[in-house]
Amino acid sequence: MPSKTLLDPTLFRAFCRVIEHAMDATQAAKAARGFFHQNEMCWAPMGTGNTKTQLPSTYNKVGDTCPKNCPLLGNICQAQHGNVNTQQQKASTAHAARINSAISAMVISVVHLDRPARLHVSGDFVLPGTEMDVDWIYVHYLLSAAEMIKMKYKAQYVAFGYTQIKTQEARDMVSMLADVGIVILRSNVPTPRGAILWPHNDISALKERFPHLKLAKCPAQNSKWTSCRTCQICWKVRETNVTVVFEASYNKKHKLDLGAILTQGEAHC
Ligand code: SF4
Repeated sequence: MPSKTLLDPTLFRAFCRVIEHAMDATQAAKAARGFFHQNEMCWAPMGTGNTKTQLPSTYNKVGDTCPKNCPLLGNICQAQHGNVNTQQQKASTAHAARINSAISAMVISVVHLDRPARLHVSGDFVLPGTEMDVDWIYVHYLLSAAEMIKMKYKAQYVAFGYTQIKTQEARDMVSMLADVGIVILRSNVPTPRGAILWPHNDISALKERFPHLKLAKCPAQNSKWTSCRTCQICWKVRETNVTVVFEASYNKKHKLDLGAILTQGEAHC
């Protein structure tokens, strides 16, 4: 099957027209799927978001695109439970499918919600078949896509997400993506602009351990009235320098040592 992508300028322009004609994000997502069908293009799971994000989102395959040393994999990885798990199992590792879905989510989000999309509710940036090498082909596709979207819609941010890869290569990737409006937070690295898994009711222990960090608890985990769409904390970390703290909701059963995970992350600050 030919790997047509929305990086083709003609297809991109036609796709944008379809999305702009839709009434709202839900209709736009339906229209995007119709566009892919009509043009015989492949795509990976992409939705208009759950109650927590309320933003168009994409899914990568868990395991194949994750660093093999991720301590959450097979334990408390939230993408291996419930609806997210269902979506990630349908996900593709093919670059064309992944970039088509990512572009779709970014365009829908920017056009209909004036917000960035949530990249990779599941999975990460690892090149499938490797331990933790960054998938640079996919990253370069994202860089090109973000440039196209920013140029067309003058958006400051086009997407946000997280990575568990803790290498210098990942730091380079985060910095390159940030330059084009894709904000990626490094997970379980206690650093400004990072994200930490920690019980919200024990935040004082975290403050004591890392007094230099400006910690911000994810409000959507404590209130059904907040979502990423309204909160915005994660994709504004480059302006605020905060470190986002997430409650490890699946840790009740597995009881992972979050302190030890953080200690490993400290080495990569
Ligand atoms: S901190 Fe805000 S933007 Fe980040 S995940 Fe939570 S609700 Fe979403």
